[in-house]
Amino acid sequence: MECIFCKIARKEIPTDLIYEDERVVAFNDINPQAPVHVLIIPKNHLTSLLDITQSNADIISHIFLVAKKLAEDMKLNEKGFRIVNNCGKEGGQTVGHLHFHLLGGRSMTWPPG
Ligand code: 5GP
Ligand code: ZN
Repeated sequence: MECIFCKIARKEIPTDLIYEDERVVAFNDINPQAPVHVLIIPKNHLTSLLDITQSNADIISHIFLVAKKLAEDMKLNEKGFRIVNNCGKEGGQTVGHLHFHLLGGRSMTWPPG
């Protein structure tokens, strides 16, 4: 398995984990786009949101609860933050392992690029 995020989740690539439980890990993005830029990923390999079905959809609510906890821990809840999922080529996805970006610490603009 050559998936870089699977390797991070399995600790085959040393990465400081901000959060870990039995289902997910979170770590800082290597190329941060905001003062806070955390990636939250399932430990199990899912290529994108398109791999989510009724039978595994609970991972999405779990990831969002982890994102909320991390946002609160980092005091982002006071001013606000953004959660992003890029899906597929035109969605801007560059790593083929489902992940959510938690961005904060600056004012976000809209529309996204
Ligand atoms: P995407 O563009 O697929 O939505 O997001 C992938 C993100 O993963 C990018 O923001 C990129 O900077 C980040 N990334 C890619 N490779 C690594 C890595 O090896 N370590 C970490 N920490 N982040 C990575
Ligand atoms: Zn993977």
